[in-house]
Amino acid sequence: MTDNELTNSPPDAADRRAVTPLICYEVDQLPPCNLALYQRARENMSKVAEITVAPRDGATFEVPAGSFFRIVSVEGSQVGDLNLWNAHDLSERFFSGKTRQLHATHISTGDRLWSSLPGLRPMATITHDTLDWYGWDEDGAGVHDVIGTRCDPYTNYMLKGVDYHHCCHSNLTRALAAAVDVPLTEAELHVHDVMNVFMCTGFTLDTHQYFMKASPVRPGDYIEFFAEIDLLGALSACPGGDCGSSHSDDNTPCYPLRVEIYQPEVDALQGWSSPARSGYSGTHGL
Ligand SMILES: [Zn+2]
Repeated sequence: MTDNELTNSPPDAADRRAVTPLICYEVDQLPPCNLALYQRARENMSKVAEITVAPRDGATFEVPAGSFFRIVSVEGSQVGDLNLWNAHDLSERFFSGKTRQLHATHISTGDRLWSSLPGLRPMATITHDTLDWYGWDEDGAGVHDVIGTRCDPYTNYMLKGVDYHHCCHSNLTRALAAAVDVPLTEAELHVHDVMNVFMCTGFTLDTHQYFMKASPVRPGDYIEFFAEIDLLGALSACPGGDCGSSHSDDNTPCYPLRVEIYQPEVDALQGWSSPARSGYSGTHGL
């Protein structure tokens, strides 16, 4: 909100402001998340694949439902921008805004990544996060936000008037185009608002503007997800590096990220089943 106030406060302004805030959704009514089951399943899982995402570039990976994947920091402090799709239907994709509304601005163990309408089901559940100790710092910042959209060449051009081709939006677009063998222009339409893995962000306390600060992630740290449905994922190693200075340019040291896929033992998931799409009739009142 820019500081262009043209209206005088009404006499009852204080009363209007003093009403009690309510959490928007009755989140205790969400489908249950059996974290104990996931924790048991991850005890004896084996790594079955590994993908390296080059700095300032993107890569895709597939995770079958019932498997785990980790995003691992290697070599240096680096932020990643994550997109997820239903592997069989790209129109069902990660819904950053609804995930934010159901959980919080930043997510960690036990939170879920929800899919777009009309699917609206958990695509993945976070099962481990070596940065869960960070919590909220004195600036109001946390790690792994679902606020920021992704750095993109259009906003960069609008602000700086130059072409830059290694923004996360472009990295994700190139990676998806190669993975599903479609033109860039088609792939671009499937790229969506991300989960900002390892990124440390918040809103300034005075002007409530989105800010970033150097990520606390260090090599060896990882965040781990359980795939609730068959997933196609794409990860960009952001040109912002640790996002402690600038982004959308080649000025910042950047490092690779690694995606590791893990398979639990066959009977480790007893009691779990892949969630169905939303049960809403879809008739919208007609
Ligand atoms: Zn980025």
